[in-house]
Amino acid sequence: MGAPLTPVDEVLDYLISKADCVVEKEWVELQYARDRVLASDVVSAINVPLMDNSAMDGYAINTNDISVGDELVVSDRIPAGKTGQDLVSGTVARIFTGAPVPRGANAVVMQELTEKVGDKVRISEMPGEGVNIRRAGQDIDQGTTILQVGRRLRAQDLGLIASVGCDRVQVFRRLKIAVMSTGDELIEPPVPLQPGQIYNSNHPTLIAMIHQLGMEPVDIGLVEDSAEATEKALKDAAGKADCIVSTGGVSVGEEDYVKSTVERLGRLELWRIAMKPGKPLAFGYIDETPFFGLPGNPVSSFVTFLIVARPFFLKLQGCYELRLPSMTAPAEFAMKPGLRREYCRVRVEYDGSGKEVVTNFDNQGSGVLSSVSWANGLAEIEMGREINPGDLIKVYLLPDA
Ligand code: AMP
Ligand code: MG
Repeated sequence: MGAPLTPVDEVLDYLISKADCVVEKEWVELQYARDRVLASDVVSAINVPLMDNSAMDGYAINTNDISVGDELVVSDRIPAGKTGQDLVSGTVARIFTGAPVPRGANAVVMQELTEKVGDKVRISEMPGEGVNIRRAGQDIDQGTTILQVGRRLRAQDLGLIASVGCDRVQVFRRLKIAVMSTGDELIEPPVPLQPGQIYNSNHPTLIAMIHQLGMEPVDIGLVEDSAEATEKALKDAAGKADCIVSTGGVSVGEEDYVKSTVERLGRLELWRIAMKPGKPLAFGYIDETPFFGLPGNPVSSFVTFLIVARPFFLKLQGCYELRLPSMTAPAEFAMKPGLRREYCRVRVEYDGSGKEVVTNFDNQGSGVLSSVSWANGLAEIEMGREINPGDLIKVYLLPDA
C-alpha cells in the first residue's frame, strides 16, 4: 500500500528495453506466414511488372507514325500471357490488359476511343506518349528490399512477396507463451456453477489474443490459490515456454499467492502501474523466463494484455511495430479520471454527417466483460484530464480477433 504508482509509459519503455528477440529462425510457406515476423529481408530478384504492359484493352500504337482518322491495319493481336512481335510501323496491334507492350509502340489507345472499319481501325483521339503503359518495375525495381526484418506479415504482404516470385519466407520461430489462471472460484464451462464459483473467462480470451499475435499459447490451466500450487505451476510454465502470463492473485490479499511466489522463485520487477483498469500488475522473471501477472478482473486482464504485455511479446518475437494503431476523434461523453491513466471501452462510430465520434460504454467496471465485447477501441485518457463532449481523444483500435 502507498507505494508510488509507475506511469504506463515508463513501464513500457522499461519492458521494451528488457525484451530480447528470440533467435531461432525457420522457413514457412507463404500460405502459413500471416502474423509471423520476418527474420530476413525480402529482396526482389525481378522487376514488377517484368515488362512494360498495357493498362487497358485497346490498341498498341506509335503516336509518331499514325494520325487521328487514318484507317489503320491491325498487324498483331496480343492477349495477356503472350508476347507480340515488334510493332510494324504505321499499323496498330490489338492488345489486352496486362499484355506486354510490343517493341516500337509508345502508347496504348483505349478501345473506347477507337472505331472498327471492316478489319481496320480508326482512332478518334490520340493519346500522349506513354499513356496506358504500366512501366516495367513501376511497382518494384529489381534489387529492392520490399519488406524488412521485423515486419509482422499481413495478408497483403503475402501477396507482395508472391509478386516477386517467393513461395516461402524466413521468420522467427513462434514465441511460446504459457497461460495460467489463478483462483479457487474459477471453473471451466460448461460445468454448472456452485455458489461462489465463476467461469474462467480470461483463459479463452488470452489464448485467442496469443494466437492472433502469431504466437503459440501453452496451456497451464487453472491454478488453485495456494503457495504450493502456484509454485508448481510457475515452474512448469517456465520450463515449457518463453514467457508466462497469469491472471489473478497479484493483489495484496492473503489469497494472492502469485506475487509472493514470484518473489521467492525469481524476481519481481514492478507491480503497481498507474493505469485503470489494471493497477495490480506484476512483471518479473522465473529463472530467466519473463513473467506477467495480470489482474484477475476480466476487463483488466484484457486491457493490460493489449497495452502492456503485447508490446513486450511483439518485441520478443522480433517485431518492430509494437503499439496498437490509434486515431484521434471527438468524445461524445464527459469524464474525469483520477490519479491513473484510464483506458475506457469505447466505440468509434460515424455520426449522421459521416464524422467519427467516440462513444463509451455506460458501465466501465473492470468486471464488465460486455464492455470489451461491445467496444472497438480503448480510449486513452490521461490522469486528471477532464474530458467534455467534443474534446479530441486518442483511441487505440482493438485488433479483430
Ligand atoms: P484477483 O486478482 O485474483 O483478486 O481477482 C480479481 C477478480 O477477478 C475476482 O472477482 C476474480 O473472481 C476475478 N477473476 C480472476 N480470475 C478470473 C478469470 N480467469 N476469469 C474470470 N474472472 C476472474
Ligand atoms: Mg484471485
